[in-house]
Amino acid sequence: MRTPPPKLHLVSEHFDIVILGGGLNGAALASALRNGPHSIALVEPHPPAPLGPDTIWDSRIYAYSPGNVEWLQSIGGWGDPVRAQAVYAMRIHGDNTGRLTFDAIDAGLPELAWIAENNRLQTALWQTLRGHPNVRLIQAPASAVTWNPGRHQLHLQDGRSLTADLLIGADGAQSWLRTQAGIGFDEEDYQHIGVVANFTTEKPHRGSAFQWFRPDGVLAYLPLPGNRISMVWSTPPQHAAELRALPAEELARRVTEAGAGTLGDLRCITPAAGFPLKRRRAHEWVRPGLALIGDAAHTVHPLAGQGVNLGFRDSRLLAEALAGGGNAGEIGRLTAYAARRMEDVASMQFTTGGLKKLFARDDGLSQALRNWGMSFANQIQPINQALTRHAVL
Ligand SMILES: Cc1cc2nc3c(=O)[nH]c(=O)nc-3n(C[C@H](O)[C@H](O)[C@H](O)COP(=O)(O)OP(=O)(O)OC[C@H]3O[C@@H](n4cnc5c(N)ncnc54)[C@H](O)[C@@H]3O)c2cc1C
Repeated sequence: MRTPPPKLHLVSEHFDIVILGGGLNGAALASALRNGPHSIALVEPHPPAPLGPDTIWDSRIYAYSPGNVEWLQSIGGWGDPVRAQAVYAMRIHGDNTGRLTFDAIDAGLPELAWIAENNRLQTALWQTLRGHPNVRLIQAPASAVTWNPGRHQLHLQDGRSLTADLLIGADGAQSWLRTQAGIGFDEEDYQHIGVVANFTTEKPHRGSAFQWFRPDGVLAYLPLPGNRISMVWSTPPQHAAELRALPAEELARRVTEAGAGTLGDLRCITPAAGFPLKRRRAHEWVRPGLALIGDAAHTVHPLAGQGVNLGFRDSRLLAEALAGGGNAGEIGRLTAYAARRMEDVASMQFTTGGLKKLFARDDGLSQALRNWGMSFANQIQPINQALTRHAVL
């Protein structure tokens, strides 16, 4: 029997906007644009699988700023099945006497942040898109791009092709689209792996997040609903490998000890996973008919919990720039979007990279200065409040 020839799709389907990558950033942008004037296609080879009512916790758990949560609520993407915990206080410990505390109540805020799982938020965002008349969800990997002036063409591995006035790369830190466009990027290896795992706690966390700057990196406890926390330990590769190889009970003991028993004994509920941490910034974020958002455009150290928050702010501004209709790929509005995002990203990369370096220095003077700086910022109310307000955007 002869094998049938591969299907040839000679006609491209046209969309005003094609978003490549349906992770948190791509899905949030598609959701924000879905009721607007443009037709949208979201291309994602691995759509989120349906989530059952079980209680298995995703190992990727992030802090979301109240400003972004408000925006996600406004587009309908922050609802069932998201399991979220509000953060009312943050207690940060230096590697000596330094202490910095942020309290929502002192800053006149209902909360400082929200903590939720990657997969449940992604599923909630996808729910806003499924069956929507203005959004086509396409499950296929992309294989090539033809860069035509005015209308780029995206070829998919299954033989289909799509044309778009605006092609958006939301395809993560290793962005395939960024590579296809030949856009270079600056990269700095933080020499840290983010080791993540979830635990139950003996004592209630009462909505507090904790962070310890330690000689072996930065350890954070993020509160989850119930007596649970998510741990992120950003630490050099060798120590990360050691932590990841530990049996669950021993890992829980080490994490309890490193957090000075603050929440009593911990018990591991998800295996440890590790993510290499790098700062990246693409040299260009926009070109005629092309835009990059989220990790495709920039990544930061997770010590300030701001990576996806920066991405959501990209999506918020890009959606705003496109809301008026017209040719979505027109360079003027894309340049305006990129210009408005530049400072936020640069200052976050500067701050997180600077803090990581400051705490990596092991001389006595640096240690004294950083711990004094933390306690100083803690005592001066306007500084403390200004830092708090910046974090909630
Ligand atoms: C340890 C750790 C802790 C973190 N904690 C926080 C935190 O507390 N707060 C915070 O704000 N951020 C945090 N971050 C950062 C956050 O994880 C990222 O910024 C965010 O997940 C990036 O989302 P994204 O949608 O841009 O990319 P991704 O989540 O990488 O999604 C990219 C999508 O593109 C798809 N894709 C890839 N290639 C193609 C292709 N060729 N064609 C089509 N689709 C493709 C992929 O399947 C994927 O679905 C943390 C990161 C780490 C590593």
